[in-house]
Amino acid sequence: MPEKEISRIIELNEDLIANNENLAEQNKKTLKELNIKSVDFVGAIGAGKTAIIESIVQQLSKDYNILVVNGDVTTRVDANRIEKHGVTTIQINTGRECALNSYHISQVIKNYDLDQVNLLLIENVGNLICPSDFILGTDKRVVIVSITEGPWVIRKHPMLFKYSDIAVINKIDLKDVMDVDIEEMIKDGKKINPNLKIITTSALTGENIPQLINEVIK
Ligand code: MG
Repeated sequence: MPEKEISRIIELNEDLIANNENLAEQNKKTLKELNIKSVDFVGAIGAGKTAIIESIVQQLSKDYNILVVNGDVTTRVDANRIEKHGVTTIQINTGRECALNSYHISQVIKNYDLDQVNLLLIENVGNLICPSDFILGTDKRVVIVSITEGPWVIRKHPMLFKYSDIAVINKIDLKDVMDVDIEEMIKDGKKINPNLKIITTSALTGENIPQLINEVIK
């Protein structure tokens, strides 16, 4: 590819990211006006994003009016799981896109009546790289990894940990069968982002889910 074309692509990408940030700022303002707390959950496929959100809605659906937005390339598998808990979902299928962006969320704000909603939980498309460029305008971002992704999963994905508020290391119920030093993973996270709150959880047994919920709705 000629050099000129490469620089044009980079310029376009920079525009895309800048536009995304402007729209994210608007989303944040509107959600605040509507008194809606909002959280963006990011992480790879199979890390446990849906399972963690299921645990959260089970605990909070009596006290909060929750809306869950599920991002996925093609399916509504996750939204179906969430709806079993009696919580309303909106499925966004992104097609070729490997992350949700602030336009998707602006469309949710524009097209749905959110008057009754006071907690918006967004499950991003399963990916540990793409979402780092696209903030959505939520109050918090939670990055979820599991120990089954191996000991280097945090070190190898610094951007997402740098730009998240909370990191979850999930599936600690499997720690006896996985050769993973969880303390080292925590150190990796703290090194990338000293302000990162790191919580180890098992969505399966419920271990440390209350602590996570406290952080999420704080
Ligand atoms: Mg999921």
